[in-house]
Amino acid sequence: MKPLAVVYDDAFASHDTGDRHPETAMRARWVAEAVRGSGLAAVTDFLQPELVGTRWVERIHTREYRCFVEEACLKGQRALDFGETLVCEDSYRVARLAAGSAVRAVHAVCRDGYGAAFSCARPPGHHARAEQAMGFCLFNNVAIAAVYAQEAMKRERVCVIDFDVHHGNGTQESFYATPAVLFVSLHQHLLYPHTGWDSETGSGAGKGTNLNIPLPAGSDLARYEAAFESLVEPAVRRFRPDILLLSAGFDAHHRDPLSDMQLSEKDYYTLTRRIVRLARELGDCPVASVLEGGYDPGGLARSALHHLCALAEGADEGSLLPLL
Ligand SMILES: [Zn+2]
Repeated sequence: MKPLAVVYDDAFASHDTGDRHPETAMRARWVAEAVRGSGLAAVTDFLQPELVGTRWVERIHTREYRCFVEEACLKGQRALDFGETLVCEDSYRVARLAAGSAVRAVHAVCRDGYGAAFSCARPPGHHARAEQAMGFCLFNNVAIAAVYAQEAMKRERVCVIDFDVHHGNGTQESFYATPAVLFVSLHQHLLYPHTGWDSETGSGAGKGTNLNIPLPAGSDLARYEAAFESLVEPAVRRFRPDILLLSAGFDAHHRDPLSDMQLSEKDYYTLTRRIVRLARELGDCPVASVLEGGYDPGGLARSALHHLCALAEGADEGSLLPLL
């Protein structure tokens, strides 16, 4: 068995958003082809996702919303929500495949013995709310994977670290009152969707299990590392998760057209190393990562490769970078 599993299907390209949409049909394929064309292919098993069962979708979304998405796609509706989330006839099926891909990644690290797994899928999910498509997202892939980890894999305590440059509002809402899920989001302050204030810390029994870290525009690696050291890592250590899920957006890359951050592809390696080290410290806590945003083609593919390199290395720091 190889150290890393990448869950991918060419069908992710059949969620057609047209020629001018940033969340373009080719995004997941760019990443998959970059892996296949690099030395990482030698340490990666590609796994096939399956459509997620509707019962898992309905653990996060209402049945009415799931049926609305299905019908809207099948009848040829072009846009959901406020027009930013475009769909085609295939989009409902592909969105279920993307959620199934996140679930497969969780299964890969919990049951199949992989050191880490990456769901290389689209559409992304972290903006999708219980009853609303938002920000290019139909179903909340990482939230569905979190309840799958709890209920099917018996990983009771789940931590989601979301380093997409946008706040994961849908994921936050899904678990805002849930003490067994720690949600941590690092994002550019006041960027879309304009949520994610540090005063949002959870409610009821979930008070204290929601950690927002809004960062100023122009933040670089030093700023991100300082936030990891002073806020993310202490919170995760205190929480002691049974599994770590990553909402891996690569749109804080300095070339990304939708944000104003200053991360390089190499910086994603450095940040992922910190997460891998933390997971090891927590008793080899399994790590499953789910692709979210990233809209500069080269920046996305190179950043994802560096992220995967750190995930595949496990304890052998630095040994795989020459493969890229
Ligand atoms: Zn994003």
